[in-house]
Amino acid sequence: NAAPLGHNVIPIVNKLQDIFAQLGSSSTIELPQVAVVGSQSSGKSSVLEALVGRDFLPRGSDICTRRPLVLQLLQTKRKPDGTDEEYGEFLHVPGKRFYNFNEIRKEIQAETDREAGGNKGVSDKQIRLKIFSPNVLDITLVDLPGITKVPVGDQPSDIEARIRTMIMSYIKLPSCLILAVTPANSDLANSDALQIAGNADPDGYRTIGVITKLDIMDRGTDARNFLLGKVIPLRLGYVGVVNRSQEDIMLNRTIKDALAAEEKFFRSRPVYNELADRCGVPQLAKKLNQILVQHIKTVLPGLKTRISSALVSVAKEHASYGEITESKAGMGALLLNILSKYSEAFSSMVEGKNEEMSTS
Ligand code: GDP
Ligand code: MG
Repeated sequence: NAAPLGHNVIPIVNKLQDIFAQLGSSSTIELPQVAVVGSQSSGKSSVLEALVGRDFLPRGSDICTRRPLVLQLLQTKRKPDGTDEEYGEFLHVPGKRFYNFNEIRKEIQAETDREAGGNKGVSDKQIRLKIFSPNVLDITLVDLPGITKVPVGDQPSDIEARIRTMIMSYIKLPSCLILAVTPANSDLANSDALQIAGNADPDGYRTIGVITKLDIMDRGTDARNFLLGKVIPLRLGYVGVVNRSQEDIMLNRTIKDALAAEEKFFRSRPVYNELADRCGVPQLAKKLNQILVQHIKTVLPGLKTRISSALVSVAKEHASYGEITESKAGMGALLLNILSKYSEAFSSMVEGKNEEMSTS
């Protein structure tokens, strides 16, 4: 089971967490949250699922995501005998572990209906789901209802404004990374996703463009210029992906098969060959990972300062009791030293010089 998101960030975060734990420090690295935005059925849930590497989100041609789903990935310790377990827990079903990911999807659907009704209603009340797994990075992903223009079913007449407000409440946070999802079989230049992401993040420091459905574009057209940022430039750039189609979903195609099919798609299209670094879910995961590593690099000096001052106050306290402080201070210095080495390794990794720390 491949969880592409966090692949090479996990070992770094784990090592840092170990260092903090040894120091008795409660400092942790808070990673940014990642939210998907875009119009209805653009492929947002499909993209999130592919990034997590598990099947568990409701997807479909109709409106499926009708409440914000806050998905917290939490890393568990790997078992020595290799019998790793992955399970989910909902805030609204305390104490119950869902080992079957199909059951997780059913519970999301049932809980959506409980709050938002069975007739396409939308609610801004969150569903909170934790996924525990040894293969994930501690990060929060948010699946959001898509932008829709024409009210259907039980939707109020101001549905579009309501959904936009809901989306903005998540993506306006400066710590939120935005995956702006636009389907390639629509008018790319009129992307709802890029429009709303642009409102929340006008300078484009935290928006990644994701173009889905490259497989069902009009014959004779391609998304080359868009992926190159020639239509709507985006600081962090674009990645094009091919997710499972509705037929694939009905046939229960696995994520693994879907990734293989995606790779084959890009290999067989000469126009995308020269854009290999902008094509495919693994590239999207890589881009996100680079951003996360960059983030860690940015917060590291602050963490170092916090640890240093914690050490100083511990030393003072001990001195005032007249205790021997050498061993503790010595250990702190050693750990700070290790931390500095890591900072350097991160820098070169971010700049792409050092592949050693990457496990992929
Ligand atoms: P959301 O409403 O934005 O969350 O979109 P979903 O992930 O639920 O997908 C909507 C529909 O589009 C589903 O039927 C998916 O199977 C289909 N879909 C999503 N991405 C792709 C893609 O890249 N290619 C094809 N052919 N279908 C896709
Ligand atoms: Mg969805």
